[in-house]
Amino acid sequence: MKPNVAAALAALSHLEIDTNPVAVKAKSRDFFWYSPVLKARLDGVVGDFVVSPKSEAEVIEVLKTCYAHNVPVTTRGTGTGNYGQAMPLAGGCILHMHKMNAVKEIHPGRCIVEPGCLLKDIDAACISHSAQELRMFSSTWATATIGGFIAGGSGGVGSVRWGSLRDPGNIIRLRVITMEEEPRILECRGDDLHRVSHAYGTNGIITEIEIPLAPAYDWVGIFVTLPDFDEAMQFSYDLASCDGLLIKLATIFEAPTAQDYFQRVAPHVQPGDTVLALMVAPHAMEAFTTFCTQFPTAKVIYRSDASDWDRDPGHVFEYGWNHTTLRALKVDPTITYLQVGYGTDDPLALIAEIRAKFSPEVLQHIEVTRQNGRVAMGGLSLVKFTTEARLDEIVALHEAAGAMVFNPHRYTLEEGGRQSTDQRQLDFKREADPKGLLNPGKMIAWDNPDWSYDQMYAWPGLTKVAE
Ligand SMILES: Cc1cc2nc3c(=O)[nH]c(=O)nc-3n(C[C@H](O)[C@H](O)[C@H](O)COP(=O)(O)OP(=O)(O)OC[C@H]3O[C@@H](n4cnc5c(N)ncnc54)[C@H](O)[C@@H]3O)c2cc1C
Repeated sequence: MKPNVAAALAALSHLEIDTNPVAVKAKSRDFFWYSPVLKARLDGVVGDFVVSPKSEAEVIEVLKTCYAHNVPVTTRGTGTGNYGQAMPLAGGCILHMHKMNAVKEIHPGRCIVEPGCLLKDIDAACISHSAQELRMFSSTWATATIGGFIAGGSGGVGSVRWGSLRDPGNIIRLRVITMEEEPRILECRGDDLHRVSHAYGTNGIITEIEIPLAPAYDWVGIFVTLPDFDEAMQFSYDLASCDGLLIKLATIFEAPTAQDYFQRVAPHVQPGDTVLALMVAPHAMEAFTTFCTQFPTAKVIYRSDASDWDRDPGHVFEYGWNHTTLRALKVDPTITYLQVGYGTDDPLALIAEIRAKFSPEVLQHIEVTRQNGRVAMGGLSLVKFTTEARLDEIVALHEAAGAMVFNPHRYTLEEGGRQSTDQRQLDFKREADPKGLLNPGKMIAWDNPDWSYDQMYAWPGLTKVAE
C-alpha cells in the first residue's frame, strides 16, 4: 500500500494547498516538546502537504482522494496538543481545519459550531447572543479549536463544576466523516460519542459539534496564598465542596512554583507560600469572603475586579492547567511534567504521601475537578527532568502508591490513557478507516493488538520517516 502523494496533490490542486517546506514543517508540529522523551523521538516528523478545507464537502473530497492514493491524513486544529497528537508520523496530508470556523447556531443551553472555531470565538459569539458561554475550556482558550479540544483534550477551566469533557452530557452531538472509498457522514450521539471523542482523529474527522452552554459570568480571577501546603489543599477541597458557591477554577501551586515561575505574581508572594488560582462568579464573592474566614491564614492577594497590582497578571486561568508547565519551562528548560489522577476517595492523603516522597524533584500542581458528583483532584506535576530512566521510575512509584498516571511522554492513545485497548475506538476505526490512514501510529491496538505495555511503544513506521 504505497502512498502516491503526487497523485493526491494533483487531484486536490483546486483546493487551498500549501507545500512550502517551512510552512509544512511548522504545521507538522504541536507542543510535543514539553516532553524531552517525545522531543528526542518526534523532532524530525514532517508531513508532505497541508490542505485547508472550507466546507464539509471539501473534507469529504480530501478523504476520498487520499483514500484512493493511500495517503495518510492527520488532522490539525491549531496544534496546541501536547503529545504529538497532531503530528503526521507517517507524513502525508495535514488536514488543517482552521477555515471551518463558523458558529452556526446558538440556542438556550447549547450551540452548534464547526470544528475549526477557536474556543474564545465560541464564547464571544454566545456571550453577545444570549449571555451564555462554554461549560469548560482548555486553558489554551485563546488559541485552540473546539475540534482539537474534543479530539485531543480532556477538560479544563470549568471542570471543577462540570467534570471532564467525556462525562455524559458535556458533548451533545458530533458529525463525523469516515475515510473510505465513499466517505460516509455519521451523526454520533449518546454512547457513540465515545468512539471519536479523545481519539486523536484516528477514526473519523469531526465536521460539526453540538455542545452545551452555561450562563456566562464576568468571572473574578483570584490569587490566594496560604503558608501551609496541606491547609491550602483543604481550603481548595472545601471550597469545591460548597455546592452553592459557584467557581470555575481551583488550582494549587506548591512553593516555589509561583515564586520561581510566575513573574507578575512572585513579588506578592512570601517564600514558602502555597498559591491558589481561583475563578469565582461575581455574585458568589460575598459567600467566598465568608468561606475564607474559616482559614485565618488565607490571604487574598489579587482580585481581577479590584486590583492594585502595578502589572496586570492577565487571565488567572492562564497560570493553571498546562499553562503552569509552559511558564516553568520558559524559566527552566529542564522542567517537564506528569499528569496524575488522585481520584475522589482521599486525594488529600495520597497527594501528601506523594509530595513527601518527591518534593522538590516533583512539585505539586493540582487541579480540582468533579467526578460523578464528588470532588476529584488531578495533578499536572512539575518534574525536574534528569534521565528517562528516572522519569519512568517516578511514574512507577506514583502508580505503586495508588495514583493513576496518564503519561504525557508517550504519543499513543493507550499509553497516554489507561494502557489498555479502547474497544469502542478500535471497532469504530475498523469500520471508518479500513486502510488505517487516519493519524497513523497513534493507536497501538490497531497496529499491534498483543502489545504488553512493558516498555515504550515505538511505532515501526516512525523509523521510516526519520531515515
Ligand atoms: C499551554 C497549554 C495549556 C493546555 N491546557 C489544556 C487544558 O486545560 N485542557 C486540555 O484538555 N488540554 C490542554 N492543553 C492541550 C491542548 O491545548 C488542548 O487539548 C486543545 O484544546 C487542543 O486544540 P487544538 O486546536 O490545538 O488541537 P490540535 O493540537 O491541533 O489537535 C489535537 C488532536 O485532535 C485532532 N483533531 C483536531 N481537529 C480534529 C477534527 N476536526 N476531527 C478529528 N480530529 C481532530 C488532532 O489530529 C490531534 O490528534 C494545553 C496545551 C498547552 C500547550
